[in-house]
Amino acid sequence: MSKTVMEHADASEVFNRDEPYVNWHDETLWFVRQKRDKSSKQLPEWEQLRDAASGIKHYVLSHLDELLISFEQKAKENGVQVHWAANAAEHNEIVLGLLKKHKIDKMVKSKSMLTEECHMNEFLQKNGIEVIDTDLGERIVQLRNEPPSHIVLPAIHLKKKDIGDLFHEHLGTDAGATDPQYLTEAARQHLRDKFLTRRAALTGVNFAVAETGGFVVSTNEGNADMGAHLADIHIACMGFEKIIPKQEHLGVFLRLLARSATGQPITTYSSHFKKPREGQEMHIVIVDNGRSTQLGRKDFRNSLKCIRCGACMNTCPVYRRSGGHSYHNAVAGPIGSILAPNLDMTKNADLPFASTLCGSCSNVCPVKIDIHDQLYKWRQVLAKEGHVPKSKEIGIRAMSTMLAAPRFYQWSGRMGRTVMRAMPFMVNNALNPWYKQRDMPEPPKESFRDWYVRNRKN
Ligand code: SF4
Repeated sequence: MSKTVMEHADASEVFNRDEPYVNWHDETLWFVRQKRDKSSKQLPEWEQLRDAASGIKHYVLSHLDELLISFEQKAKENGVQVHWAANAAEHNEIVLGLLKKHKIDKMVKSKSMLTEECHMNEFLQKNGIEVIDTDLGERIVQLRNEPPSHIVLPAIHLKKKDIGDLFHEHLGTDAGATDPQYLTEAARQHLRDKFLTRRAALTGVNFAVAETGGFVVSTNEGNADMGAHLADIHIACMGFEKIIPKQEHLGVFLRLLARSATGQPITTYSSHFKKPREGQEMHIVIVDNGRSTQLGRKDFRNSLKCIRCGACMNTCPVYRRSGGHSYHNAVAGPIGSILAPNLDMTKNADLPFASTLCGSCSNVCPVKIDIHDQLYKWRQVLAKEGHVPKSKEIGIRAMSTMLAAPRFYQWSGRMGRTVMRAMPFMVNNALNPWYKQRDMPEPPKESFRDWYVRNRKN
């Protein structure tokens, strides 16, 4: 684990210091999860849609070579310039090169988790380019100089008051204002000028269609369209797994995406881009950045089916009570915890352990990724590769020896109960992490096994 990054458990402990705030965070995300449930139940064919989406993505993952080449060819025929980036550095250099070529030093950007993954904003800013995030949530976290805490709801960790204070400081709104309509209007006025004066706009890509060379960007604010339509250059960046074979498949994914993400029947703007308008340049940057490696990991390749809806975060009891920033990765929550170790096992070895393995994430995933199984499998890989702390390794070995020897197990249980009764301070002390937030329970008089044996004889 890199010394510069706080591990998930430690960061969660900091997050949990303010209990009413944690409860609020938990309830807010659970509200979104409930909206998703209600909305999905309105579609009798919901499970068939999930099966179809998972099947299409399965096909995609085994035909990426053909589909990506077909997409490139069609996009070029449509007048779009296509670039390939092997990693984050190449992606960032391509974007910088395009801006420099056109002598552009200011750009608007709509939501793109890929650019977060590549740390593009920091890179461009270091190279003299001003990047303005135009998604409201993204702009809020940008003004706070922090990363998004959620892939769909970037500022979900902030209350209205936090945003009122921030806008008062940066946008000159009235002190103490918390009315969402007033604050949103202030942000709209602030962003309007940026849209009108920027010559370049960057967007993400939700789905790229191999059959047509077109792509779809989904937003609720219309900010991607506004940026792309006004700019001389539109740069769209996508991880290569965003490809889908046919236009008709969009009907499956668009219905699943919005319902899973926010419980809406459809995202407000599902914008289809195909070719640049006259006088405009359109570029697509297709990025690998570790995806080929993940594709080659048999147990984890399905994680590339992800359509970034965020449902697994909203339902996860650990995410809801630890916050997105505890995951120290662009994509947080359950899906982030299976993508992150692929990028850097040393830095992200703690993340697959940030789960109860309850399986709620897999139950809600619209593309049926076996998320909790993958979290469990990553733990085994990380232990084998030596990325688990020694103390945990020794503890698990000791536990495994005990569980493999029934008599030793029974004796240990008896000893443990005796010690807890006679010397409670042995467990109720600051050295025991379980004691930090809860009272240790009274030890039972006998084990279940003893009780069962005794009662079965009667
Ligand atoms: S893993 Fe599934 S539930 Fe989680 S963000 Fe991706 S598509 Fe949504």
